[in-house]
Amino acid sequence: MSAVEFVEALSEGPDGEGASQAGALFQQAYGQEPKGVWSAPGRVNLIGEHTDYNAGLCLPIALPHRTFLALSPRDDDQVRLVSSFAQDRVEQTSLEGLEAGGVEGWAAYPVGVAWALRRAGFGQVRGFDAAFVSCVPVGSGLSSSAAMTCSTALALDDVYGLGFGGSDAGRLTLIDAAMVSENEMAGASTGGLDQSASMRCQAGYAIELDFQPGLSALESAKQVPFDLRSRDLELLVLDTQAPHQLNDGQYDARRRSCELAAQTLGVENLRVVADQVEAADDPERALKDVLDKLDDPTQRKRVRHVVTEIGRVGEFIRAFRAGDIRRAGELFNASHDSLRDDYEVTVPELDLAVDVARANGAYGARMTGGGFGGSIIALVDAGRSREMAAAVAEEFSRRGFRQPRALAALPSQPAEREA
Ligand code: ADP
Ligand code: MG
Repeated sequence: MSAVEFVEALSEGPDGEGASQAGALFQQAYGQEPKGVWSAPGRVNLIGEHTDYNAGLCLPIALPHRTFLALSPRDDDQVRLVSSFAQDRVEQTSLEGLEAGGVEGWAAYPVGVAWALRRAGFGQVRGFDAAFVSCVPVGSGLSSSAAMTCSTALALDDVYGLGFGGSDAGRLTLIDAAMVSENEMAGASTGGLDQSASMRCQAGYAIELDFQPGLSALESAKQVPFDLRSRDLELLVLDTQAPHQLNDGQYDARRRSCELAAQTLGVENLRVVADQVEAADDPERALKDVLDKLDDPTQRKRVRHVVTEIGRVGEFIRAFRAGDIRRAGELFNASHDSLRDDYEVTVPELDLAVDVARANGAYGARMTGGGFGGSIIALVDAGRSREMAAAVAEEFSRRGFRQPRALAALPSQPAEREA
């Protein structure tokens, strides 16, 4: 069997690989030392997919894989940026007179954060010089974009003395700026799961996020112990490297379907329906009654996914806590099947990877992230990740798919200052 490459995480801390490499890139680009180095993690969502924009629940962990950012503030409104992905090219732009969508390419993500903070009333935020070094796979559904916007938000908070980064409640303001940047400057719709995970997850825990509007910091998140080692388990992340499909508009189309269905059902969002179904004496019957009110068969499928998926988040937490790993795995499987059949966001690579993992003894496997390519996760017995990844790789070769990459996922710490 062919061995699969495991993407290693850069080490953390003031003398770690992440801080040294980001500092060196900064020095090379700008000829001086940065003011500091900050970092933010990518994430994997355990369960609760396409629920954030439906005011629902989800359950991500922070990956050990992070984006490191060396940054210095400037006393004008210029922004200069360099990334390890394109070391020789410094992007330059100005915050002065900037409007939504006014920056092209990857620079939109960090520039948009400063722009969003200023628009939110924090006029003390000025320009900056920055160098990014990342080990988060890009475009693989593991949120390299949030790792970039959240590390930027934390760094700007720190150097411009906004004072939000030090508390969970304060971080909500930084999460907002990161979201606004992705939605309005980069033009990539996001419902908030990625940025909340990168800013709020704790090492050793998954975080149950509740996206009902108007909740306080305390109400919107619960830390859920997720200790794989003590249960002799591993969480394998496999990046299928499936070429990105033409998914422009697909995400927005799903959102729109959900909004239209909520309108027809006379509720503010689909969470209301999910709560009604869960509280019913006969939830299956209650769901059927709801779906019967929708004429459009596509909307019926979308709503069935969202409602059942929100229900699975709580069920997964209860199963894992009780040590019922078999059930937890079944819920992974049910989630994937629902995303494949009802939400229709999988691609052949995701479905195949999941099938092979299940056939090779995973407790459960599912796609993670928005879909249309990207990664799967599989819950497996400790020590089995490598052979599971190799089995998927072999099947991928047979089908002529690109070779997958793997990551070992241990629940890690949120965005923080490194040096
Ligand atoms: P994901 O967040 O799942 O990795 P996205 O499509 O949301 O995928 O974000 C990927 C985009 O984010 C890249 O195309 C690039 O524009 C930007 N990006 C993320 N990390 C970096 C980085 N370290 N350097 C440069 N650009 C990056
Ligand atoms: Mg993203």
